[in-house]
Amino acid sequence: MRVGIVGAGVAGLAAAKTLQELGHEVTLFEGRHEVGGQVVTFPVGGTPLECFYHHLFTSDTVAIRYIHELGLGHHLRWIEPYNGHLVNGKRYPFVTPFDLLRFDAIPLASRIRLGLVALYLRRQADGLDKYENVTARGWMERAVGSRAFNAFWGPLLRGKFADHADDVGMVWLWNKIYLRFASRKGTGSKESLGYLEGSFRRYYTALAGLIEGRGGTIHLNTNAEQVSVEDGAATGLRAGGEFFPFDQVLMTTPNIITRRIAPDLPADYAAILDSVKYQWATCLVLTLNRPLTDMYWLSIADDLPFVACVEHTNFMRPEDYDGNHILYLSNYVSPGHPVLEMEADEVFEHYLEGLKVINPRFDPSWVREKWFFKDPGGQPVIGTNYSKSIPPFRTGVPGLYLANTTQVYPEDRGQNYSLRLGEEVAALMDRDAPSVAAAKGAWI
Ligand SMILES: Cc1cc2nc3c(=O)[nH]c(=O)nc-3n(C[C@H](O)[C@H](O)[C@H](O)COP(=O)(O)OP(=O)(O)OC[C@H]3O[C@@H](n4cnc5c(N)ncnc54)[C@H](O)[C@@H]3O)c2cc1C
Repeated sequence: MRVGIVGAGVAGLAAAKTLQELGHEVTLFEGRHEVGGQVVTFPVGGTPLECFYHHLFTSDTVAIRYIHELGLGHHLRWIEPYNGHLVNGKRYPFVTPFDLLRFDAIPLASRIRLGLVALYLRRQADGLDKYENVTARGWMERAVGSRAFNAFWGPLLRGKFADHADDVGMVWLWNKIYLRFASRKGTGSKESLGYLEGSFRRYYTALAGLIEGRGGTIHLNTNAEQVSVEDGAATGLRAGGEFFPFDQVLMTTPNIITRRIAPDLPADYAAILDSVKYQWATCLVLTLNRPLTDMYWLSIADDLPFVACVEHTNFMRPEDYDGNHILYLSNYVSPGHPVLEMEADEVFEHYLEGLKVINPRFDPSWVREKWFFKDPGGQPVIGTNYSKSIPPFRTGVPGLYLANTTQVYPEDRGQNYSLRLGEEVAALMDRDAPSVAAAKGAWI
C-alpha cells in the first residue's frame, strides 16, 4: 500500500516505521519545519532543548526500546531528581515518601492519611474498572480529607485542567499515582526519571532518518489541507496545494485539526471527537545566570500564574548548555485565556511576582533569554467514563485512520504511548489492507 501520514510527531514516525516493516510505502506531511511534534526542540547554548520539558518514567518501556533500537542507549541517563511542592510560599521537598511526614502545611493526621491513600492506590492494578465513573476530586477529597486535598491534590488538578479540574476522572489520577510509584524501586526509595543527553531530538531525528533511509518521504513545512474521500472511501490527501493519491491515510493530529482536515467523517465519529476538550500547554522558558532553586520539579499549590517550575539544569548539567541555568514555567490553560495572546516579555512580567515567591532573592537581571511556547493540543481533558470518548483508530471512512493523544487511556499522554499508538494503528492498517482495497472496488 501507499500510505499518507499527517503529522511527523512521534506517533506519525512510529506508524511510518512500522508500516515500512510490514512492507508498505509511506509519505509523511508535517506542517512545521522539522519533525518531533510536541517533543520539538530549540537550541540553548548550542544544545537542543525541548520547548516543553520532557523526561521518561521507568514504565515508559516502548520509548526506552526505541532509544536502544536506534543505538542511543548510551545517551539515556536515569536520575533521581530533587522534587518539591510549594505551599504558602514554602518549598517542601518530595523525594522519598518519608518527606510527606515533614509536610507541615497540613496536620500530621492529614499527612498520614495522604500517604496511606497513595500507598493504597499504588496497589490497585484494576483502577480502570473501579474508578471509571467517579471524579478525581470526589474520590480523593473523601479519601484524604479537605485539608490534604486543598494543599496537595486539588492544586495539581487545577493546575493541569483549570476550569475542568472538577470533571477529571479518578482513573486519570489513579493511573498517575500508580505509574509514578512504579518509577520507584521500593516504598522508601527515590523516583528515577530518564533523559536523553542532548535531548529527545536525538531519537526522533534518528527515527526520521531511518524512515527516509528506507525510502519513505517526509514533506516538512507542508500542511495537510484535506483528506480526499470518493465513493465513501479515503483516496488521498491535498497537502501544500497538491493532491497525493494514497491507498490509506493516517491522521495523527489533535481532534480539533482532524475535524478541519477530514470534513467527511461520519456524524457519530465526529461527535466523539467533538466531545473531548483540550487544555493548551504553555511554557515560558528562561535562561538564567544562576539557579533559581536546587529543585528539578516544583509543583505549585499557591495561587501563582503558573503551576510548575521545572529547573532543567537541576536535572542535567548547566555545562551542557554553555553554563545557562534553564527554567520552564509551565501552565495549562483553557482556550481564550489571556496568556495565549502574550509575548514572552509580557508573560515574564505577569510571572515575576510568582518567581519571587519561589525565591525572594530573584532579580530580573538574572535572566539572559526568554521564550514562550504554546500548543493547543497540549492536554486532553480526561473526564469520568472517558472510555466512551475514545475515538477508535478506524474513523468509519474505509482507508482513513486516526491515532492521537485522546486515545491514550488510562495512562496520561506521553511519548511512550504515542509511539505505542503509532505501532498499533500501523498493524491495524496492515490487517485492514485487503478489506479497504475491496471497499474501494480494487482488484487484489
Ligand atoms: C507541556 C508538555 C509536557 C510534556 N512532557 C512530557 C514528558 O515529560 N514525557 C513524555 O513522555 N511526554 C511528555 N509530553 C507528551 C508528549 O510530548 C506527547 O504525548 C507526544 O509528543 C505526542 O505525540 P503525537 O505524535 O501523538 O502528537 P504531536 O506531537 O502533537 O504530533 C502531531 C504532529 O502533527 C503536525 N500537524 C498538525 N496539523 C497538521 C497538518 N494539518 N498537516 C501536517 N502536519 C500537521 C504537528 O505539527 C505535529 O508535529 C508532554 C507534552 C506537553 C505538551
